[in-house]
Amino acid sequence: MTQIVLGADGAVHLEPLKPPPDPGPHDVLLAPVHIGICGSDVHVLRKVHPFITPPVITGHECVARVLSTGDAVTSCAPGDLVVVNPLHSCGKCPACLRGATNLCSSAKVLGFGLPGLARDRVTVAGRFCHRVPAGVPSRLAALTEPLAVGRHAVSRAPAEPGRILIIGGGPVGLAVLLAARGAGPITLVEPVQAKRDLAAALGADRVLSPDETPPDADTTFDCVAAAPTLATAARSTTPGGTIVVVGVPHDATEVALPRLQRWEIDVRGTGLYRGEDIDAVLAGPPADAERLITAEFPSGRAADAFAATTDPDQIKVLIGWPDPAA
Ligand SMILES: [Zn+2]
Ligand SMILES: [Zn+2]
Repeated sequence: MTQIVLGADGAVHLEPLKPPPDPGPHDVLLAPVHIGICGSDVHVLRKVHPFITPPVITGHECVARVLSTGDAVTSCAPGDLVVVNPLHSCGKCPACLRGATNLCSSAKVLGFGLPGLARDRVTVAGRFCHRVPAGVPSRLAALTEPLAVGRHAVSRAPAEPGRILIIGGGPVGLAVLLAARGAGPITLVEPVQAKRDLAAALGADRVLSPDETPPDADTTFDCVAAAPTLATAARSTTPGGTIVVVGVPHDATEVALPRLQRWEIDVRGTGLYRGEDIDAVLAGPPADAERLITAEFPSGRAADAFAATTDPDQIKVLIGWPDPAA
């Protein structure tokens, strides 16, 4: 058995894995089927992640087959396909008790502060497993985590978002697009043509490159959160509007505070997702979300999978394991 480790040497390694013991009463033994590679995983590999230094067992966007469960587990049963919530919150603090598990101050994320899921066999606590409904294909379920980011971001915007501007057309920007479709006219700004084309195919009313001036928006989702995109967001968001910061900023960034103050423009953060976002995505994943998957590699070729992510035309690269139920 092997596990995929992002090495301190900047390379991706397949390392031997000791078979995990039988699950404890609250635990589930899983066989991962698909794991998606996220921009943040690539940042860890390149040693530019702000908090995490390799070596790290990677993998947080995971759909897996349940092999066995402890006696106290109610979330799933052997044979089920599950998505793992990689955000391991404490379950006891005030934020957790009111359901805001993404605001748990002691939460850690699998594949970052905790060992990840990219292993032939892995044990996790049953409370972080979400059953994939029958009829949802495993490849589509593999997109649950980024789709939950998009859903949570849209839940942070006003219920009637009006004219929507999305800055950035990577997996997160496209996930916001899929979650916001139908709520208002959507313009998406993205430098890469292939991503603009996909955004248009997925329902963006208008796609622009960053050198074009976007139309005014009532709600802007900045899925990049760098100085130039925040400036675009501040300029393009109409009086009384809302800017949702979705992208992960690399450092402190100046924003045009005078305009935000005078024109009552709200700036809101959105961070990760909650269990309810994962369940909502699994209850009705948009079938065309599978178009986000642009490459797939078997686990033995994990290094090639990470190398593929450097191609700007790639959107979501998956690593796959044989499904024991297939
Ligand atoms: Zn991710
Ligand atoms: Zn907590």
